[in-house]
Amino acid sequence: MADIIQLLPDHVANQIAAGEVVQRPASVVKELLENAIDAGANTIKLIVKDGGKALIQIVDDGSGMSVTDARLSFERHATSKIKKAEDLFNLDTKGFRGEALASIAAIAHVDMQTKPEGAELGTHLKIEGSKIIFQEVAAVPKGTSIAVKNLFFNIPARRNFLKSNQVELRHITDEFHRVALAHPSIAFHFYNNGSELFNLPVANYRQRIVHVFGTKTNQKLVPVVEDTQVVKISGFINKPEFAKKSRGEQFFFVNHRFIKSPYLHHAVVAAFEGLIRPDSYPGYFLYLEVDPGSIDINIHPTKTEVKFDDEHTLYAILRSTIKHGLGQFNVIPALDFEQDQNLETPYAYKNRDASQPQVTVDAGFNPFQEVLQKKGATGGGFASRVSSGNSKSWDSLYVGLDSELESKNEYRSLKFESETITGSIFEGKHAPEETMATTFQLRRKYIVTTIKSGMVVIDQSRAHQRVLYEKFLKNITIKEAVSQQLLFPLVLTFSKSDMQILNEIKDSLSTIGFVFGKLEEEQIEVTGVPLLVMESEVGIVLDQLISDYQMEISEDSFSQTDILAKTLAKTLSVKTGEVLESTSQIALVNDLFACKETRVSPFNKPVYITITENDIDKKFI
Ligand code: ADP
Ligand code: MG
Repeated sequence: MADIIQLLPDHVANQIAAGEVVQRPASVVKELLENAIDAGANTIKLIVKDGGKALIQIVDDGSGMSVTDARLSFERHATSKIKKAEDLFNLDTKGFRGEALASIAAIAHVDMQTKPEGAELGTHLKIEGSKIIFQEVAAVPKGTSIAVKNLFFNIPARRNFLKSNQVELRHITDEFHRVALAHPSIAFHFYNNGSELFNLPVANYRQRIVHVFGTKTNQKLVPVVEDTQVVKISGFINKPEFAKKSRGEQFFFVNHRFIKSPYLHHAVVAAFEGLIRPDSYPGYFLYLEVDPGSIDINIHPTKTEVKFDDEHTLYAILRSTIKHGLGQFNVIPALDFEQDQNLETPYAYKNRDASQPQVTVDAGFNPFQEVLQKKGATGGGFASRVSSGNSKSWDSLYVGLDSELESKNEYRSLKFESETITGSIFEGKHAPEETMATTFQLRRKYIVTTIKSGMVVIDQSRAHQRVLYEKFLKNITIKEAVSQQLLFPLVLTFSKSDMQILNEIKDSLSTIGFVFGKLEEEQIEVTGVPLLVMESEVGIVLDQLISDYQMEISEDSFSQTDILAKTLAKTLSVKTGEVLESTSQIALVNDLFACKETRVSPFNKPVYITITENDIDKKFI
């Protein structure tokens, strides 16, 4: 048989290797930012167009490259960062594989200008699909500028696989956050389609976090610090009140490198045990410093995972450090707020104090409210409203704003009109009997009612989710939502990246009755809300929507309408633990069985079960 094995030409090999390194525009951003940091830059500029598909440019004022190095930097396995195998175990740079530039140049149009310190002239070099178009001498500033255009121009399949510009921009922003948070001593500028998204001056860690995530973040942070032989830990955790229903602001950095570690995450969660609801996540920004020889960052091509020599010890130290931090904060809360003058932007709620009308007309007076408030700490639904929201308890603590926690429940305020109920709604197989005499609430969780063949046990929260979900879906599709005008506009503060998401979903929100006024960098003005949403819930609803969209980022079915309806249903529904009076129980049952789909909640969970007389009879045999 003839020999058939051939060596792949370089440009093909590079293209294949590129697949590992460059999954999407955000991967390019990460690699180029890291190169700029390794080059010792003081200021780094990131410029992006069309979610990075059209342009990603990074300009740094770092070491720059000589003429030869400029050319060599695009060769595969060309690196200045390690010289021998042992160096791998003592890394103090981000890069070491020498693959990034070669990979990027294989699948894009790259334009580089670079000049080292002291040189009179620099280099201008252009590469397209690994092919050098030109390399010439040029008068350029010290440092390096790399522009990457038309990503995946020669791999249409990959290009088509990319998500919308907005989604790609969000991935880029995530990478940017990770790098910027790890390096507060470097100034960063980030421009998207000509407008400045971030301008981060040189700062300390706390300031950097606040600059990235917005002024209201400052109030949430509790410092943690620990210095042991194995690890040095510093950074911040969010107060338990601010735990979110979704993963979000959770950052581990090891030796200034962002990492993901489910194991260490668990250590943090364990420290929060008992302080937050089991289904919510604490936020944290934790900086670990370990001996570079004690970790292996070589195990993952995109380098967000590391292997620690002694994970168990690290786990224990981390957990106790967090616990200690939380403990200190509980005992002496005042000490946590070493207010930084540079961050003294007024907390959003300070402004709201005067303008928020205290409307006392309480159409839906709720006799159970007191009961609910008393058991607030444990009561499912109520506690969740407190924790997932705009942290009203803290507002009142700091601003003296006596924010009434209103538990909204449209069923409680609903007047039951028995005359309007006709047999026709109950034609379904499992529909309750017409008399409706018998509903009762079981353990503040289920509504039990009778049907011809026996009885139905309905999960109150899921049933309400179904009802609200269909209501919102209908509103969104027929675009006829009724909006209630707020007497005074509500000004809410969000981080820049949250604002990015709000911008994306603003139009959908309008279709269900939200009306927005002025939109600023970190603030949004709400002038109207859907009928089903109370003013006090607006912040909670928007927070929840933002985090649900964030979670949705990697999923294929990116249906705004559906997420919107689901989120609203989830957030506004009656929860387990809430008492429903009998008229409300009946109204809920009626509404449920008037739905198109009655059996499952919007999240595909069963809404009710039936127990027939036959089933019961069998038990008595
Ligand atoms: P690695 O970072 O793993 O070494 P890269 O392909 O990212 O591999 O870069 C190759 C080499 O090019 C680097 O080792 C470095 O010497 C040089 N280089 C890349 N970007 C820059 C930059 N912004 N400034 C100075 N040198 C750079
Ligand atoms: Mg690199």
